[in-house]
Amino acid sequence: MLATEHAVEQIWGVTLDRLYDSEEGRRILSCIQCGTCAGTCPHGEYMEYPARRIITMLKAGLIEDVFNSDSLVKCVNCYACQTKCPRNIRLTEILLPLVKEQSILRLAQMPAELQKAVENTYRYGNPMGESGRKRAQWTRTSPVPVRIFSEDPRPADALWFVESDLSFHPRGQDIARATARVFHAIGADVAILGNEERAAGDCGRLSWEPGLSEALIDYTMSILQKYRFNRIIVSDPHALDAFKYRYPMFGFDYPVESVLGFVAARLDVLAPQLTSPIHKTATYHDSCCLGRHNALFDEPRALLKAIPGLSLVEMAHNRENAVCCGGGGGGMWLDTYYKARNMERLSDRRIREAIATGADVLAIACPYEVSRFEDAVKVAGMDQRMEVRDIMELLVESLGGQ
Ligand code: SF4
Ligand code: SF4
Repeated sequence: MLATEHAVEQIWGVTLDRLYDSEEGRRILSCIQCGTCAGTCPHGEYMEYPARRIITMLKAGLIEDVFNSDSLVKCVNCYACQTKCPRNIRLTEILLPLVKEQSILRLAQMPAELQKAVENTYRYGNPMGESGRKRAQWTRTSPVPVRIFSEDPRPADALWFVESDLSFHPRGQDIARATARVFHAIGADVAILGNEERAAGDCGRLSWEPGLSEALIDYTMSILQKYRFNRIIVSDPHALDAFKYRYPMFGFDYPVESVLGFVAARLDVLAPQLTSPIHKTATYHDSCCLGRHNALFDEPRALLKAIPGLSLVEMAHNRENAVCCGGGGGGMWLDTYYKARNMERLSDRRIREAIATGADVLAIACPYEVSRFEDAVKVAGMDQRMEVRDIMELLVESLGGQ
């Protein structure tokens, strides 16, 4: 069952002590112990308590034992177990984050990189620790004008929530500029929050700090009220999840779309402008949040197929069976923790699948993936053979000098 079918309150209002007060919480009791969740989990071999065992322990009144293990610190919120569960139990949305919060609280020591990301987000509104005053700096090198609401508060059709990776990371900024160029090509009436934007707060809820997540949501809600727009479009799939499934609990009721879906819906305008061929072969990595959680499987492929000269090949695991890049659920800041436990990086596992296709380009649509996969390509010694490009960057290359 896809998350798009769910009722928001049924998921985000659930707490461990009131787990069975809701229909979705009670659904956990229908587990048939088939083990599909454990078998599907990309970190299953490292977990003492995969979802199946967590449910057993919960029913036996032994959940404290699970809290005291670090099994769920290894959960990267990839939605694979939830997607495959024959009982449609909302593992990734309800049970696992609740247990994970308790496990992280009981760690003898918070993993250093994760701790730093939390502190930075509290202090600066982004996990990198960059000054909030620099958030809109990338717009100065954009090839097209980018409207910032605080400078030009006229109503816009769409508020583009850029998020932290695209605002601050050098490769993220490349993607932000490419996205602005694509919006310009399709004539989208878009404005951004600029320096008023802070992280949306998704990872805070899902991996370690619900209080931080709520503070960020409160802040963003207060800023959104200042401006008039018809919809929010979001570059970061994790922020998309936050706006779609978390913010409504706080009174948010704007239509939310991913940038990818927004552009794909306007392909009739964009496609005639894609006149510069790219004579390469690409394989697309399905982001867990876009794909398994929001069913955006066809849109990225439609955009890639619209680029003249570009051939698309699929990896062995694709669409809802795609292997996670390992960055979700705080995984972005847990590589050192995992390495110390001899766990294989999921980005390294995934890149081998991409390389096996023979593709020249790994096409991505989540800002976490660009740095994770560019590093994994280097580790594999294939950085001269395979490039990692966001779909927006490929579209701009095909737009050429127009
Ligand atoms: S896949 Fe679902 S039904 Fe099967 S063991 Fe896991 S939680 Fe239970
Ligand atoms: S969400 Fe993904 S990583 Fe987490 S337990 Fe389920 S399959 Fe494993």
